[in-house]
Amino acid sequence: MGSALRLCGRRVPAWPPAVYLCRPPMLRITSVAPDSLGSELGLQPGTDLLTINGREVEDFLDWEFLSADEQFLLHVRQPDGEEVEYDVERPEGLPMGVAVEPPRIRRCANRCDFCFVDGLPEGLRERLYIRDDDYRLSFKYGNFATLTNLKPRDVERIIEYRLSPLYVSVHATDPIVRRWLLRNPLAPDIREQLRTFAAHGLQFHTQVVLSPGVNDGRVLQETLADLWGFGDSVLSVAVVPVGLTTFSKHHLVREPTQEECRAALAELEKWANRARSERGTTWAFGADELYLRADRPLPDAEWYEAFEQVENGIGSVRYLQQQIRKSEEDLSSWRGRRIAVLTGSSMGALMPQVLAPLRAATGAEFELLVLENSLFGASVTCAGLLPGMAFKAALKARTDFELALIPGEALNDDATFVDDMTLDHLRGQVPVVVRPSYCFADALYPLRGDEQ
Ligand code: SF4
Repeated sequence: MGSALRLCGRRVPAWPPAVYLCRPPMLRITSVAPDSLGSELGLQPGTDLLTINGREVEDFLDWEFLSADEQFLLHVRQPDGEEVEYDVERPEGLPMGVAVEPPRIRRCANRCDFCFVDGLPEGLRERLYIRDDDYRLSFKYGNFATLTNLKPRDVERIIEYRLSPLYVSVHATDPIVRRWLLRNPLAPDIREQLRTFAAHGLQFHTQVVLSPGVNDGRVLQETLADLWGFGDSVLSVAVVPVGLTTFSKHHLVREPTQEECRAALAELEKWANRARSERGTTWAFGADELYLRADRPLPDAEWYEAFEQVENGIGSVRYLQQQIRKSEEDLSSWRGRRIAVLTGSSMGALMPQVLAPLRAATGAEFELLVLENSLFGASVTCAGLLPGMAFKAALKARTDFELALIPGEALNDDATFVDDMTLDHLRGQVPVVVRPSYCFADALYPLRGDEQ
């Protein structure tokens, strides 16, 4: 542990208090790692971070970027109300060890016909109905953002903090088509926004949610050509077919046909071949779902390079196969045992391609259980939205398995499914060991004593 880096800790009188009409900008600490610089300074859960070098600390971005300097002046309010100023010297690379409250999510300014939120049944937990569109989460977690709700201050922050790469939902570069798709007549021209950021050296991964009759065909050609024109600033573009639920606005939007998916893939492959020969990168990708609907074989793993958009369903099958092959786990304890693999119908159609290398690596017997979404309807095919009740129904009478692997994406950070069932509850209801998994090898460690 490095030496204490508080050169001085100046107590600032708390009086007179500032008068604010709403909560002044500040960020609350939620935890401080023991033996960290933060704890050495006396920071604690409940401490409010007020300013760094006189600049207000509004969210985790301010905290991470402003406190990255080797020396800075930190003004805080301790939980007892006392304000303290620290002159901090922080050797490069030493973390502060401070966790802060999550940001208040930026709400979306759009009303897309294909919005997943409109496709939710009533009665789910409130959080699921929030339409988030937050450039901060785009940078931090790779969530896609449309950038339609940026204020001038946000643009400044993106440039100042060099938030790159950003994950941007482009959908169409034609401003009129894009406004139609987003149902937002005020949506700025995405080409101008990207140009502004690109001029400062920022880069983007982009996506197009394909809505047939709106942004396919000529519009898709134009979108790809415009994005190509950004050169190295646009790192990738992925086309994902629109996905609807029983509750979606079917009178306004439909899913693409096999022919429409094939046409989109043909356009993408044209650009990908050009990108590979001119820029040495695939650049234009189709989602696995697009290949599935087109009834076309998936490209090889090397097509997807670093799998930059795998969480967007781009190259999921090849990624899983690769993870299984590269796994350094000893999988031999599963030889001859029976394992259930549960997933949604879109991945279910592709899963046999993953189970073959898995059988070879483990010697286990795998049975694929493809579940229909009992909450959203059969048209919702992705594994991440399967409710706990669907897993329970599929497993409750299955005493023939020693292990059941469920998709990790179906659980949130609190280990809870979309229908509010917890993983612990599911485990108590079925006669088989249940493990969430992202890539199989992560969940095939030997059975623990408390699981047997
Ligand atoms: S951008 Fe469209 S799809 Fe995304 S949350 Fe907003 S309305 Fe929904």
